[in-house]
Amino acid sequence: MIKYYSYPADKNVKLSEHFVVGEFVTYSDYHGNYPSRIPIDSKLPEVLEMVYKHFGCTYGEINSGYRTSACDRSVGGSGSGPHTLGIAVDVYFKKNGQPIPSRLVACYLEDLGIKGIGLNCGGNPDGTHIDVRGFGVWNDKFWHGDEAKVDKKGNYALVSNFYKYTGTSKSEVYSSGSAQSSTVMTTDPTVRVVQVWLNKTYGLKLATDGIYGNETRRALVRGLQHVLNAKFGAKLDADGIFGAKTKAAIQPCTKGTRGAYPSILQAFLICKGYNVGGFDGNYGNQTANAVIQFQKDKGLVADGIAGKATFAKLAE
Ligand SMILES: [Zn+2]
Repeated sequence: MIKYYSYPADKNVKLSEHFVVGEFVTYSDYHGNYPSRIPIDSKLPEVLEMVYKHFGCTYGEINSGYRTSACDRSVGGSGSGPHTLGIAVDVYFKKNGQPIPSRLVACYLEDLGIKGIGLNCGGNPDGTHIDVRGFGVWNDKFWHGDEAKVDKKGNYALVSNFYKYTGTSKSEVYSSGSAQSSTVMTTDPTVRVVQVWLNKTYGLKLATDGIYGNETRRALVRGLQHVLNAKFGAKLDADGIFGAKTKAAIQPCTKGTRGAYPSILQAFLICKGYNVGGFDGNYGNQTANAVIQFQKDKGLVADGIAGKATFAKLAE
């Protein structure tokens, strides 16, 4: 959703832990003649923060954010691109003074289902263009470009797989203490993160639109059925329908558990709007608190143990 900010009055308004409004307005774009009204898509700081935390960054700099149409043309844009809509940034991330290469950022963004990614932005291997098209404002199709490479016709080359294109391995993107993709996507638990995780874990093709609807609910039940089969030998049909057999196969999921079972539990809770702390497959205090709150809200015994009745309510 686009929100509008006054400039410079809102300059220091925090949009996320590490980004303020002023950073979305760039001196070099305007030569001091700033616009007084700045549109910023609320998804943008959310995504920036996910990258920042995933790579354990200590510094993030927006090199170019919102641009007026004239400003966009003056820096070589079309005058109507994503930067003019307030849905794009060109950004540099660093950890302890060392740049996080754009290829790693691009691969991570691809895994998150981000539609607008420009590698090596402006020809700099540490710069990345990120735009949040597809989340409501600009429903353009995927644009995975490589801003450093332009073909003979003057078009940016389109990249569908940044891992392959840049020769990057999964372990490079999910190393240095950051979460492994199989169990954890991020510390930012949103419905979209759950959808991306379900797609990766169970080979599904859910729309990663951040909306908890019937399809996502069925995918979660399928995930639960897979876990019950693998963990307890339940022999269920993974059909996404929570019936009597599935209910009967449920064993209590308790605090202190780690792995696929608590991951599914957290995923359900996140989709139901409960705060589990991080989506990390670790049934700790915050997940227990979320279970207790959910049980209270549903009139169940609030013991913090997710059993048959709790999963039945989560799957509704
Ligand atoms: Zn850009």
